[in-house]
Amino acid sequence: MSDYKNILQDTHGRDHAYLRISLTERCNLRCTYCMPSDGVQLSPKSHLMTYEEIYEIAKTFVDHGVTKIRLTGGEPLVRKDIPVILEKLATLPVELSITSNAVIIDRFIDVLKANGVNKINVSLDSLDEGKFKHITRRHEFKKVYDNILLLVKAGFTVKVNAVLMKGFNDNEIIDFINFTKDLPVSVRFIEFMPFDGNKWDMNKMVSYAEVMTYVNETFSADKIERLQDAPNDTSKNYKIKGYKGSFAIISSVTNPFCDSCNRLRLTANGQLKNCLFSSGESDLLSTLRAGKSIEPVIQKAVRSKFKVRGGMDTLKKLQEPKLHNNNRSMITIGG
Ligand code: SAM
Repeated sequence: MSDYKNILQDTHGRDHAYLRISLTERCNLRCTYCMPSDGVQLSPKSHLMTYEEIYEIAKTFVDHGVTKIRLTGGEPLVRKDIPVILEKLATLPVELSITSNAVIIDRFIDVLKANGVNKINVSLDSLDEGKFKHITRRHEFKKVYDNILLLVKAGFTVKVNAVLMKGFNDNEIIDFINFTKDLPVSVRFIEFMPFDGNKWDMNKMVSYAEVMTYVNETFSADKIERLQDAPNDTSKNYKIKGYKGSFAIISSVTNPFCDSCNRLRLTANGQLKNCLFSSGESDLLSTLRAGKSIEPVIQKAVRSKFKVRGGMDTLKKLQEPKLHNNNRSMITIGG
């Protein structure tokens, strides 16, 4: 271990034990709210982290206190060397998990299990095949739906992420909750967030309060159970009594959870982001390739983390395009 101590603690007293690593900027879906309609400029392959570099950077974080690593993207499973990445990371003392659109996850059940991945988050924004095609610009609904059932059957802990948008899928909130009646999954409704090129508009977002209005209009108060949220949880968790699964709201816009934030993000081209909303990045990959220690770069990045949402501490600031347009689009951050 080096001389660097507490490099994962920021100036607001938050310790960062959770690293989200984006493995690729590529995706087999084209979700309109995630990827700009004219696509993204992909980094040349030589600018992306190799599996050895992913391991080396991840190990430094683990040596300094990271206990959870989530793999994301783009779509992490389209990366050809995903089995090797999983094998390498599985040698570290961390909880390894993955966020996927599940289109091809049926091919990876064994490799995920063999490497101790038990928790999988799957994105699914509509239970309606036509709407799914509209939002993802791809015809893969059945595969995703069947793969969610397959993952549950195979014993994985599955969370289903649905980004809600007004006039698009807000009329499916109750359908999604009813999806948890016989299926032990947690459906998480995500407030639509602003990123470069995603035409964000506060009026399109469905808030935590609005979700709960639908819930309260449909289920009687004695049926709605507020669950205990896990430490550092980004979601407010609920359950309908008697249902096998649960539901939650991730309210990054109306109710940010920055006080307990313990997350850092590493992009596929090796840039450290100290906050999802921050446009600032620190180049770990070039530092590593130059043969220098990445620890001081990590320390500086963590210490410069804003208290709230990359400095956008009010809803008014969040609505100013110039404050978030310098950020990447979500496809190249990883969610
Ligand atoms: N391909 C994987 C998937 O589909 O889950 C991982 C990457 S995706 C960028 C990670 C998560 O970010 C998904 O759950 C997606 O719905 C969410 N996401 C993307 N853009 C978003 C936005 N503008 N607001 C809220 N969530 C967003």
